[in-house]
Amino acid sequence: MQIPCTSIETTIFNRIAAAAASLNLPTYLIGGFVRDKIIGRATKDADIVCLGDGIELANKVADLFEPRPTVAFFKNFGTAQIKLPEMEIEFVGARKESYQLESRKPQVETGSLEDDQNRRDFTINALAISLNKADFGQLIDPFNGVAAIENKIIQTPLLPEQTFSDDPLRMMRAIRFAAQLQFTIVPETLEAIKVQAPRIKIVSQERITDELNKIMLCSKPSVGWDLLFQTGLLQIIFPQMVELYGAENIEGMGHKDNFYHTLQVIDNISENTNDLWLRWAALLHDIGKPATKQFEEGHGFTFHGHEVVGARMVPKIFTKLKLPLNEKMKMVQKLVLLHLRPISLTNENITDSAVRRLLFDAGEDVDALMLLCSADITSKNKFKVKRYLQNFEMVKQRMKAVEESDQMRNWQPPITGEMIMAHFGLSPGKNVGIIKDAIREAILDGLIANNYTAAFGFMLEKAAELNLHPLN
Ligand code: ATP
Repeated sequence: MQIPCTSIETTIFNRIAAAAASLNLPTYLIGGFVRDKIIGRATKDADIVCLGDGIELANKVADLFEPRPTVAFFKNFGTAQIKLPEMEIEFVGARKESYQLESRKPQVETGSLEDDQNRRDFTINALAISLNKADFGQLIDPFNGVAAIENKIIQTPLLPEQTFSDDPLRMMRAIRFAAQLQFTIVPETLEAIKVQAPRIKIVSQERITDELNKIMLCSKPSVGWDLLFQTGLLQIIFPQMVELYGAENIEGMGHKDNFYHTLQVIDNISENTNDLWLRWAALLHDIGKPATKQFEEGHGFTFHGHEVVGARMVPKIFTKLKLPLNEKMKMVQKLVLLHLRPISLTNENITDSAVRRLLFDAGEDVDALMLLCSADITSKNKFKVKRYLQNFEMVKQRMKAVEESDQMRNWQPPITGEMIMAHFGLSPGKNVGIIKDAIREAILDGLIANNYTAAFGFMLEKAAELNLHPLN
């Protein structure tokens, strides 16, 4: 084997080779598995291509395992899949593809190994390993894919414009691989993406978003987002983000470039969390800034209320990007809405009630919020950053203290709506809400203690103001 494999992997490939020999089908290991092994990245997905029927080969391979794994097959595509504990293997017959202008789904005909390598998107993905008796384990590298891996470059095997025009998803993949592997897209390939960017419109949103999520999960997501911006793809798939770009300056008063600030924030947060949704929150935290930007004479630029506007934009953006509209979206929205609160606490005299209110509003997402806020500190002024971070530590400690005494996380006021209704013989209505809210606010403001007795007394006072009397 010209790639490093574990003994289990070698056993599996030997069995595939034996099955292929018995069917007399020339067979190759191809694509991502070969690439990742050469790079030294962990991989579990192996693609097998044979000159013949991939489904037949998969069945023959399955016969060689005990217990026999299930062969999932897709007759229309001529593909089959076997899931082993150590590896997921896809089988397909070698093919030649031709494309129509309006679709990224090719017309497919059977082809040679060379045809199959030609249809691969990048030279690093077109590497094959022979699983045939005569030259078992030999690397077949017609496009210098190994050199591309050594030189850390992304390049199409054939003409890049044609490659991207045929299947525009490849533009997203190029950028995703560049971000994941920290490789450079060669100038000719990058130029072709710029030219073909408008073709991205024929790709389904699900596919695009799948790639965006993979970019988000890279160690430095900014690499991918910046490439999307530089190539013009971002303008088409996510224009609100492009609006963040640019640092305006009037009468010597400027503001920072919110696009690059945002990218810095995503990279910062990615150093501390792998949570996809927290990374999305970082990406969207300032998304309301362009809509709220104003220049105030003698004062400079302001973005008042950008967190509220941004939070309102979150569901719309999630809908457009076909991201899930669930609890995760709500968390992102909450973090966008609250992202200035911990910082503002450092500016004022931090009171217990301000801390308590923040803990109540953030609920179980308070740690996530603090991560976002630390990541948001991107000033180039080292002293400023140090001061902010110190203030921040102070806020964290105060939060801890308040949390310990009041247990505000997932806190519910000690008197519920049901209790109020039962005590005053009320049915659900406005007055119940007024009393309930008043109790909650009084506790959060520190006017009364956070316990049942204090809340009960306060409820009686409030009810009396509303001319309500207990049942007995
Ligand atoms: P990842 O697993 O990280 O998504 P991958 O390249 O390892 O990336 P697949 O997306 O499953 O895995 O693709 C397997 C192989 O199929 C690739 O290595 C490439 O050779 C080929 N391929 C996949 N998508 C395309 C495409 N859109 N155009 C051309 N070739 C493709």
